[in-house]
Amino acid sequence: MKIIIKNGRIIDPSQDMDGIGDIHIENGKITKIVVRRNGETEKRRAGKTEGPNGKSVEGNAEGHSVAESPRQREIDAAGLFVMPGLIDMHTHLREPGFEYKETIKTGTAAAVKGGFTAVCAMPNTNPVNDNSSVTDFIIRKAIQEGACTVYPIGAITRGQKGEELAEMGIMFGEGCVAFSDDGRPVMNSQIMRRALEYSRSFNVPIISHCEDLNLSEGGVMNEGLLSVTLGLRGIPAEAEETMIARDIALAGLARGRLHIAHVSTRGSVRLVREAKERGMDITAETCPHYFSAGEKAVLGYNTNAKVNPPLRTEEDMEAIKLGLKDGTIDVIATDHAPHHRDEKLMEFDHAPFGISGLETALGLSLRLVEEGVLTVGQLVKKMALNPARILGLNKGTLRSGSDADITIVDLKKEFSVKAEEFASKGKNTPFDGWILKGTPVLTMCKGKIYE
Ligand SMILES: [Zn+2]
Ligand SMILES: [Zn+2]
Repeated sequence: MKIIIKNGRIIDPSQDMDGIGDIHIENGKITKIVVRRNGETEKRRAGKTEGPNGKSVEGNAEGHSVAESPRQREIDAAGLFVMPGLIDMHTHLREPGFEYKETIKTGTAAAVKGGFTAVCAMPNTNPVNDNSSVTDFIIRKAIQEGACTVYPIGAITRGQKGEELAEMGIMFGEGCVAFSDDGRPVMNSQIMRRALEYSRSFNVPIISHCEDLNLSEGGVMNEGLLSVTLGLRGIPAEAEETMIARDIALAGLARGRLHIAHVSTRGSVRLVREAKERGMDITAETCPHYFSAGEKAVLGYNTNAKVNPPLRTEEDMEAIKLGLKDGTIDVIATDHAPHHRDEKLMEFDHAPFGISGLETALGLSLRLVEEGVLTVGQLVKKMALNPARILGLNKGTLRSGSDADITIVDLKKEFSVKAEEFASKGKNTPFDGWILKGTPVLTMCKGKIYE
């Protein structure tokens, strides 16, 4: 199958590309990319967009006869943004073990609906992905039923119990792209040190869920005046920050690669920034909810706003935006954490933590472009190129020869978030009813089209 995406505004930070042009695809790979005009110039010529729309004849540009490639599709992308498929480096797909919350099938369907062409599956399933047979199961299942590529993340410790290292080498060989005990921190510093040392031999990052369990114990929301007013137990910012400080120190000691998951506080941004200024090999992510909603979202004991780390203050939100802008925070990941409706219907203290994030991530993140925090190119970098680079994936780029993982976005098209219509089984979002601007209109995974 031959496909041409025509006249779109192609944004590809891997080649510093922003221009109007065409992308040629054949057998699931990008074969050619032609840029005719600079994208910024085009923007200034507002109103007068594209020329002839998708009227061109069957092309034999690649030198194939029509008989050799009888099927060709042209996609008119005039007025739309064409970017590398988004990569979510922090997804909870829940399978195996919690299929009532989500499956590889429904989670990847939600991913492509949200513009993602690859997701990285966190290991806190049942059984935990702490050995190669679980890794193998996830990869096989994703090939059979998944809409997009799934990269497993292996557990750091057996059963995520924090006591002894899992067989990281074997899991790496089987296809794990990083290691994390996400959902829980590795409380034992010596084990965290060993993990950072061990993972160096295969050059993959250790992803740290930074939380001091003693400080956060019993907490259900951000600690502050509001938690006192609501009579809910708080989780102080320091529960996150002390662990980030520890892990930065350990990464220095072990000379390992550290990636900080879901940065949510001002102090965390500062710690990461300082470590980077000292030249340390660390990277960090935040999630759309940490710059889109503050702790007030829990008012009315809204369990859909209960997430770990918790939604923080306005100052924290501003600091995170600044961290994204100045490059301190490399990645926007979803921490997609679907739960069953009945679980979120429990009272606030007992409801599980988590937000179903795959289908709102792009729309929420595009608000940063609207606010002038990021350019579209910088956004694509944080949602596609940087995750690929950090994890060593041959993705996140539109270079010819790459997999045809492409997302086409209508930046002007508004949509109302309707949790009930999520492809994800998890309808748990605090953004239900929000009007967001910027809709993925087509997601292509290795040449396969979802629209
Ligand atoms: Zn986590
Ligand atoms: Zn997580």
